[in-house]
Amino acid sequence: MERVKSQRAFDEAVKLIPGGVNSPVRALRSVGEVPLFIKKAKGTILTDIDDNQFIDFCLSWGVFILGHSHPQVNEAVKLAVENGSSYGIPSLQETTLAGLVADSFPSIEKVRFVNSGTEAVMSAVRVARGFTGRNIIVKFDGCYHGHADHLLVSAGSGVANIGNSSSAGVPIDFTKYTTSLPYNDQDAVQAYFNKNGDKIAAVIIEPIACNMGVVLPKNGFLEFLREITSKHGVLLIFDEVITGFRLSLGGAQGRLNVIPDLTTIGKIVGGGFPAAAFGGRSDIMSILAPDGPVYQAGTLSGNPIAMTAGIETVRILRKDNFYSELETKSEWFIQELKEVIKGKDIQLNHIGSMFTLFFNEQPVYNFADAKQSNQQRFAQYFRSMFARKIYVSPSQFEGNFISQAHSKSQLEQVLNVISEVIKNI
Ligand code: PMP
Repeated sequence: MERVKSQRAFDEAVKLIPGGVNSPVRALRSVGEVPLFIKKAKGTILTDIDDNQFIDFCLSWGVFILGHSHPQVNEAVKLAVENGSSYGIPSLQETTLAGLVADSFPSIEKVRFVNSGTEAVMSAVRVARGFTGRNIIVKFDGCYHGHADHLLVSAGSGVANIGNSSSAGVPIDFTKYTTSLPYNDQDAVQAYFNKNGDKIAAVIIEPIACNMGVVLPKNGFLEFLREITSKHGVLLIFDEVITGFRLSLGGAQGRLNVIPDLTTIGKIVGGGFPAAAFGGRSDIMSILAPDGPVYQAGTLSGNPIAMTAGIETVRILRKDNFYSELETKSEWFIQELKEVIKGKDIQLNHIGSMFTLFFNEQPVYNFADAKQSNQQRFAQYFRSMFARKIYVSPSQFEGNFISQAHSKSQLEQVLNVISEVIKNI
């Protein structure tokens, strides 16, 4: 494959941008490739600046459930931009999208929009601390909640290993109220609550983990978290930045029927523009300024263009059969994929339209399991798929996404390629 222009573009980028990228995984270092430079994305097809075309399974990290550049979303955005692209003053679009979000998510009565998932989580955590008057946040190893200082706690840290930051530049004091416990480990949670239950402000979890690859909660784990948090006056936060509007109209909570106190969403809700949100029960959200004492703000928050893209996207998602059709197509693909990988020491974790192939002999239930995967085999897999013009998420610790735009023949093509590729790795 000819990639001269991408190589040249990357050489220029690294002179001006650290690592040549504005978000680290894009550099493709762990899989040993030169990054793609994209000039166009339509449906499931990414076109790079050398005119190579790839079938996309990353979809801007889960954003494009409708496929890239959906005509209805694009039309609405073009009209909206004619009316100005930011006011710093309320617009009707904000209330419209807030209504659609509140109607979709069982846990959300009131919602506030921000610009990224990081901001949504950071704000939800501040609300939880303000509301409960407590400091400790419990998260789970391998869950990612954005890059706010206090949530960058070592994903590999052991039970109750408070304050072990996984980034330089984060003072140890900033993470001393963050505890990371193993995902799917009820006993660890119980033990921590027995000692600290009255000091915990919130438990935050990706209800379906997607940042250690897709990892499902064991039966009863989320219900257990719901119960123990309620018992101790601790807020339960579902970080649905990936799963929100992905696993059902009401996200993972709508699908699994476990209702948190606060929810963060991102990606899909912005329709491809920088928007995310956090929301929950009205009495909790009322602690936010200007109603209450918890400060939170943003120049571009509720941006009218992002709100418009979000509104159009969610309106399409709310049509009858959207999720059932996506589910049927995804289920078919997953069943076929199971056949393809049989006997290959590969684990397929999946739910709905999200999946990860772990190059691992053992089932993956948590981060420690995920880290046992053979990263060299994964890198080989990525490069082989890439060479055949299929762009899967470029890390073992990420999910892949099926969109409305993936056709059955594209999925068949991908199955054939995977079958061929894994023969040699
Ligand atoms: N939470 C989760 C579950 C995420 O997957 C991500 C990003 N992938 C974030 C938060 C942070 O979102 P953003 O990159 O928009 O800041």
